[in-house]
Amino acid sequence: MEKKGHLFIISGPSGAGKSTVVDLILKKRPQLEYSISYTTRPPRGDERDGVDYHFITEASFREKIERGEFAEWAKVYGCLYGTSAAYIEEALASGRDVVLDIDVQGAEKLYAKYPDAVLIFLVPPSFEKLQKRLVKRGTDSSETIKSRLRSAEAEMSAARHYHYVIVNDDLGKTVSELNTIIEKVHAHE
Ligand code: 5GP
Repeated sequence: MEKKGHLFIISGPSGAGKSTVVDLILKKRPQLEYSISYTTRPPRGDERDGVDYHFITEASFREKIERGEFAEWAKVYGCLYGTSAAYIEEALASGRDVVLDIDVQGAEKLYAKYPDAVLIFLVPPSFEKLQKRLVKRGTDSSETIKSRLRSAEAEMSAARHYHYVIVNDDLGKTVSELNTIIEKVHAHE
């Protein structure tokens, strides 16, 4: 039987270091591919079209939705983001592994379509510190801390639906954990 590729979906709050981790795992595993999303967000810093994202207008994005070209799409922080259905299908059918950096809504939708996908949640180390503070201070903390903890809680509750949660406090360790996860999936083929 022909070998099918695997999807490795990485999500996590901003500041978790997702893009750095993805860059490093792609260097470590040259066979692994990155799913370049479409977005209506303007490019940031040195981001390049067709490398970091496919930067498109909202009108083009809407047309793609109409034509059913997205495997999943979602609105994140006011902009639209979507994964190319054709790209994913083609990569998986040819036995290529794909890593995706998408939000929790997208991960849920993709997992419903591809139940073999591996869901990995990356947590920034500051969450750990935040949680420790929560335990220490109890409920009488200031409004600012309360609201931070609320958003941390919301983010962490999404993590429950993931197969793996990695606290990214040491980049090298995080990448090696991710590598182990990928190897484990191959070992079970
Ligand atoms: P950023 O604008 O910081 O690059 O990404 C914002 C959020 O959008 C991140 O959580 C990232 O994972 C998510 N994202 C990027 N591409 C996609 C996509 O194709 N689909 C979905 N659902 N989320 C995406």
